[in-house]
Amino acid sequence: MTEALVIGAGPAGLMAAEELARAGHAVIIAEAMPTPARKFLMAGKSGLNLTKDEPLPAFMRNFSVGTGGGLPPDPRGYLCQDESQFGPEDVMAWARGLGIELFTGSTGRVFPVGMKASPLLRAWVSRLREMGVELRTRWRWRGFDGSGLVFDTPDGSQLLSPEVTVLALGGASWPRLGSDAAWVPWLRDMGVGITPFRPANMGLRVDWSGPMARYFGQPVKAAAIHAGEQISRGEWVISRRGMEGGGVYAVSAAIRDGADATLDLAPDMEADRLAEKFARNRGRLSIGNWLRKLLGDPVKVALLLEWGRPLPETPEAWAARVKSLPIHHDGPFSLDRAISSAGGIRFDAVTGDLELRALPGIFVAGEMLDWEAPTGGYLITHCLGQGRHAGRAAARYLSSVRR
Ligand SMILES: Cc1cc2nc3c(=O)[nH]c(=O)nc-3n(C[C@H](O)[C@H](O)[C@H](O)COP(=O)(O)OP(=O)(O)OC[C@H]3O[C@@H](n4cnc5c(N)ncnc54)[C@H](O)[C@@H]3O)c2cc1C
Repeated sequence: MTEALVIGAGPAGLMAAEELARAGHAVIIAEAMPTPARKFLMAGKSGLNLTKDEPLPAFMRNFSVGTGGGLPPDPRGYLCQDESQFGPEDVMAWARGLGIELFTGSTGRVFPVGMKASPLLRAWVSRLREMGVELRTRWRWRGFDGSGLVFDTPDGSQLLSPEVTVLALGGASWPRLGSDAAWVPWLRDMGVGITPFRPANMGLRVDWSGPMARYFGQPVKAAAIHAGEQISRGEWVISRRGMEGGGVYAVSAAIRDGADATLDLAPDMEADRLAEKFARNRGRLSIGNWLRKLLGDPVKVALLLEWGRPLPETPEAWAARVKSLPIHHDGPFSLDRAISSAGGIRFDAVTGDLELRALPGIFVAGEMLDWEAPTGGYLITHCLGQGRHAGRAAARYLSSVRR
């Protein structure tokens, strides 16, 4: 009989497998794709932001559980706020333990010196193999059959009946990388509460007018996006599809949940001072050249002309428009293009050990649970932490059933 089974070889599943193996158990990892951790590798394409170098309480304030409504009164294991807490310092020590040199950027974000995820993944998978963990790729879980779990494999359909299972199947964004949320109905049918998946950390779709095409790929710097109570000063990019990048992702959950979005093109200048600038005589300058002179950035002028019409007539109205330019977007990008997802296995469907209440002996970890956090290293850190938490709890479960 299989002792411990982990399904899903992303950061959460690999960490759960490591903990089970460390506790002396025989572990099989079943992974649907031909190779492990494809989303983790994709994350490394633009620089693997492993964690954020900040104290744990500040770090944890970035998480919300459920529908973006902050933390439940007792997040327990769901947010690993107990003995298993695996925060930024632990992640850095763990990566260094795999021989990966790290650096911390000016905003506290932590990256491997080489920026890529592949050296870390290679070192990790080979350590797991040395520990005796068996990785079976092209093993796609298809649901339950009695008390067993059914897989499509290169050798046909297989049934496994492990003593303990950790599911680490990921969320629902970028499904082509493996986490396609196909498991939702199987667990729901077994009585597991699941919140529908929605995009998180995504761009906004914009149907730009023709003249905006020349700005595609241009960064928007030193501007602030306001969405409800939230303000993002981060940089973002004008793309063919709309607005993309960290500055937009930071407020994307608020916008997804209905907040109006406006852009402050001069966040470091008060409206009065701005109105004084707009009161100066325009002379013979065209509107475009006049705005470029006042705002000093052709990208900002393009945005003002795109979204600021009809154009204001008084200096005060110009200042107000620059400080609060309505963002005319067509909604968030879909799950296919979101960095992560919100939704998944509900907080009240698991115990503090991340064991499914409806399915004892089955533990869950990672993005398949209903929490969300911004980009900036929060996602990977928390998937690793939950993987560790679930793996340790699964090892304790194995010891207890054998006693
Ligand atoms: C473009 C991009 C950039 C990102 N950059 C960063 C970043 O810099 N920093 C950061 O913190 N986060 C980043 N993220 C998010 C981060 O990669 C994810 O949050 C993280 O990988 C989730 O880990 P996980 O283990 O929960 O799930 P996943 O990494 O999605 O792994 C789940 C695994 O389960 C497998 N699986 C699914 N269904 C089945 C099945 N039925 N049978 C068998 N196997 C199955 C999948 O194939 C997959 O390998 C990025 C994401 C994207 C898309």
